[in-house]
Amino acid sequence: MPAFVPPQRLLLGPGPSNVAPRVLQALAQPSIGHLDPQFVAMMDETKTLLRRAFLTDNALTVPVSAPGSAGMETCFVNLIEPGDTVIVCQNGVFGGRMKENVLRVGATPVMVQDDFGKPVDLDKAQAALKANPGAKALAFVHAETSTGARSDAQALCALAHEYGALSIVDAVTSLAGIELRVDAWGCDAIYSGSQKCLSAPAGLSPISFGERAVAALKARKSPVQSWFLDLSLVMAYWQGEGARAYHHTAPINMLFALHEALTAVHEEGLENAWARHQTNHQRLRDGLQEMGLDLLVAEAARLPQLNAVRIPDGVEDLPVRKRLLDEFNIEIGAGLGALAGKIWRIGLMGTNSRPEAVDAVLAALKTALGR
Ligand SMILES: *Cc1c(COP(=O)(O)O)cnc(C)c1O
Repeated sequence: MPAFVPPQRLLLGPGPSNVAPRVLQALAQPSIGHLDPQFVAMMDETKTLLRRAFLTDNALTVPVSAPGSAGMETCFVNLIEPGDTVIVCQNGVFGGRMKENVLRVGATPVMVQDDFGKPVDLDKAQAALKANPGAKALAFVHAETSTGARSDAQALCALAHEYGALSIVDAVTSLAGIELRVDAWGCDAIYSGSQKCLSAPAGLSPISFGERAVAALKARKSPVQSWFLDLSLVMAYWQGEGARAYHHTAPINMLFALHEALTAVHEEGLENAWARHQTNHQRLRDGLQEMGLDLLVAEAARLPQLNAVRIPDGVEDLPVRKRLLDEFNIEIGAGLGALAGKIWRIGLMGTNSRPEAVDAVLAALKTALGR
């Protein structure tokens, strides 16, 4: 069997995004032991870098050794117990997965439904909190990658607190792409992913738990039913002075990569990164408009890092995406669920949020659509 050599693609879908050369280089460094003092020091730096990216002082801020979905599950299995009620806001595919997590924990989800492409409606979320006193948490997706809609995370966290509920925030696509302030906004439990706006390889999920979430974890009546994701065990490995207990073998080289990707974010500056995502989104929007293509989401709620483009009448979804991939080496995303065949999803995430990438996908689309 010959060695596998992947093609060079421009990854402009819903994630993964392209990994910067400096991050690939970090990944290819020689492995060291996962309890090596130098590795432990690197873990501590990674926690510091993550706190800066989340804009938080939360001590419990670590990357979970698995993709974003595991970060989601970490929040639900640690904070929610059988019999709890959780308000779940769904305005796309990922809210549906939150519901699934709540059910599997043995808790009751109360759904707040909004159309795909719309942000979470604050009045509906408030009505659900009012109608369900004692709800343990309000869970929502900040940046809905399946539709390109941004919800008001600050207002939703404030609502949760007003009704004594914890806020559980999906920031898989938002972290480092749009404004996100964990402490200032009062996000109690939040999770992200390495392969979207951080532009690291897929496979790690940064999480952060604030004081209220840690208190809820400590007050549990039942043990966390997932051994691997039980944060009280994970923290014995990621925290503690000197002695660190073996829990699982951390994905050593992946953590080299995450450390480098976070360093790159901080060299640029978080606010500069947010502004860059916005600028390149506008360049894409203008180019699409010139071609007569519309975006699904209303301007006020548009995510700059995930652009849902309406497929024009009479144009078939798959042949266009196939041509972009085969002829131009550009990957864009398909619509999911109710939006399958109706939209394309063009991601401009992390290192891919740059004018050259925008111009490349616009030119390829122009050719593929004959416009
Ligand atoms: C990608 C994504 C996830 C899942 O992350 P994986 O790394 O694919 O497990 C969850 N939520 C949102 C909003 C996402 O975009």
